[in-house]
Amino acid sequence: MFSYRHAFHAGNHADVLKHIVLLAVLRYMTQKDTALNVFDSHAGAGLYRLDGDYAKTSAEAAEGFLKLIANKPTEPFAAAIQDYVEMVAGFNQGGTWSVYPGSPFIIQSLLHGRDKLKLFELHPTDTKTLTANIAQLEAGRQVAILREDGFEGLKKFLPPPSRRALVLCDPSYEVKHDYARVQAMITDAMLRFPTGTYAVWYPIIPRPEAHDVPKKLKTLANKSGKSWLSVSLTVKNSKLTQDAEGEVVRPGLPASGMFLINPPHTLKALLKDAMPQLVKALGQDQHAAFTLESGG
Ligand code: SAM
Repeated sequence: MFSYRHAFHAGNHADVLKHIVLLAVLRYMTQKDTALNVFDSHAGAGLYRLDGDYAKTSAEAAEGFLKLIANKPTEPFAAAIQDYVEMVAGFNQGGTWSVYPGSPFIIQSLLHGRDKLKLFELHPTDTKTLTANIAQLEAGRQVAILREDGFEGLKKFLPPPSRRALVLCDPSYEVKHDYARVQAMITDAMLRFPTGTYAVWYPIIPRPEAHDVPKKLKTLANKSGKSWLSVSLTVKNSKLTQDAEGEVVRPGLPASGMFLINPPHTLKALLKDAMPQLVKALGQDQHAAFTLESGG
C-alpha cells in the first residue's frame, strides 16, 4: 500500500482522457445557478511538475499530454480537447509546459463561489503537498481536504444539501480490493443520492477485475434506470512481449476508460469529435482505438 505516487503518471494518456471528460462534465454542471458539490475521492497532490524528477523518470507525460500538443492535427482540435489544452496552458507561463494540474485544480478552476469541493487523499506526503498547493489558492472554505479513506468518507456527505453533485472516483488500484471497493462505493452512493453524477476511471489491463468495472457499473445504472456513458482509449497492444534476452517486457498501461452515471447529455457528442483525434495523436501502434457507448 502507498507505493503509488501520481507524480510519476501525471499527464499520461490516462490523465488526458480522464481530465478531458472531467472538464467537459464540469463545464456543463457549473452552468446552473444552484450550488454544485464536487467530491474527488482520490485527489492526489493537486499540481505536478512536468520538468521535475518524477515526470522525467517515468516520461509518461511525453506519451500523453506533451505528445498531444506536439501532434496537433491539421484540422483544429475538437472543442473538448481545445478546452483542455487551454485549461492546462492557464497553469503555465511563457509558452512552456512545466506544470500539469491534477483533478483538484481542474475542478477548483471551474467552481463558482457558491460551489464546494471535498478532496480525499490518504497518502501522507501527497496530503501535505495537496494542502500546501490548495493553500496558495486562498479558496477558503470552498475547498476541504480530508486525510481519509475516500471510499468510506464520501458516505457522510450524500445526499448534499443542494441536491447537485459530481463524484470523481479515481483510485490507484494499487491493491486488488480497490476494484470491489469502487463498485461498493458507487452502489452505496446511488442509494443515498440516485440523481448525482458519478465518474469512475479504471485501467484496462489483462485482469478480470478491471474488465468488470464498466460491466458492473453498467448493470447498476440500468437496474437503477439511470443514463450512463462509457468511453475508453487504447494507445497500444496490451500483450506481454520478450526482449532479445528472453525477458518478459511489460507494456505499461495500454488503455483506460471512464464510466459515467447520469452524465451531461452534451458529453457524448463532444467525445465523438474528440476521441478520433486522441487516437491519432496518442496511438503508439496499430491497436490504438477508442470505444464510446451510452445508454439508459
Ligand atoms: N485524481 C487525481 C488526478 O486526476 O489528478 C489522481 C489520483 S491518483 C490516481 C490516486 C490517489 O489516491 C493517490 O494519490 C493515492 O495516494 C490516493 N489513495 C489511495 N487509496 C486511497 C483511499 N482509500 N482514499 C483516498 N485516497 C487514496
